[in-house]
Amino acid sequence: MEISGHTRPYAVLGHPIAHTLSPVMHNAAFSHLGMDAVYLAFDVLPERLMDVLPAMVSMGFGGINLTIPHKVVAFNGLSDLDISAQRLGAVNTVVIRDGSLRGFNTDGCGFLRSLEEAFHFSPTDRDVFILGCGGAGRAVAITCAAEGARHIRLADRTLTKANRVAEEIRTIAPSLALDVVTLNEAASQCRKADLAVQATSVGMKQGESSLMPDSAFREGQLACDLIYNFPETVWMRAAAAGGARTINGLGMLLHQGAEAFTLWTGVEAPVAIMRGALESALYCRPSRHTRKG
Ligand code: NAP
Repeated sequence: MEISGHTRPYAVLGHPIAHTLSPVMHNAAFSHLGMDAVYLAFDVLPERLMDVLPAMVSMGFGGINLTIPHKVVAFNGLSDLDISAQRLGAVNTVVIRDGSLRGFNTDGCGFLRSLEEAFHFSPTDRDVFILGCGGAGRAVAITCAAEGARHIRLADRTLTKANRVAEEIRTIAPSLALDVVTLNEAASQCRKADLAVQATSVGMKQGESSLMPDSAFREGQLACDLIYNFPETVWMRAAAAGGARTINGLGMLLHQGAEAFTLWTGVEAPVAIMRGALESALYCRPSRHTRKG
């Protein structure tokens, strides 16, 4: 990559940001397509974000990703929000057009595309179990509700968190069947679902045990662990032992990035190239196996 005065900058902003894999996949895409562009990562304090974003417009940035803790800051600070950002109450992609900023959220789309790609599965009219109601679990739950899931089962060790997500879902889809359970009751609920999603951070560290036993899964079931720092996570191992078909979170990470790429550039993202770049960064360098999501 040769950087010149013509090179178009793109960036991800977060705090902290050192863990991000977004530069790996976007720079691989730019390079593959021969685009004169570069994607960088910046550590920005949340209280400075709404000053930094307009400055990036003045500096000619082509597009911006936001990660924790900026997704909600931008949702509250940007006046122009796409339905994808309105739905999730968070912005992970900023598109710059004619000097103005528009907030999008590609996480839901990334999740749905990863299921479609791996399983030809859509949550519409299906029964979905979600373990963990933090930022990622909430996004998955709201996306499934918006897609017309028939039944959503939420589990979290902190019931107030799961109840809060349930309240949000009730406003989007009042007629959807909804259950909120503790971790103790989670295994039997998990077993009933068509799709089980693991959205806690348990399993990111080497040697951690699955929060669900093998018996929480069954033949014919699909299981998606949002963790992507191992090709097969401990939760996926339990799910596979119980008979389920499994994927990790790499597809969601990839497809949220691919959708952002297309929103910024108008060009179809080279998904296979981006996937290869992510896989080699994650799975071919042992030192990165403990990275955070
Ligand atoms: P978060 O907001 O911090 O939520 C973490 C969740 O994990 C909470 O539900 C938390 O429960 C639960 N948890 C943590 N330790 C636990 C334990 N020992 N026992 C039971 N539950 C525990 O984090 P997040 O942003 O939602 O991320 C969650 C996971 O999703 C991470 O592994 C992250 O890498 C992954 N992720 C993947 C993608 C992707 O593109 N594939 C995108 C975003 C996130 P409490 O509510 O009780 O604290």
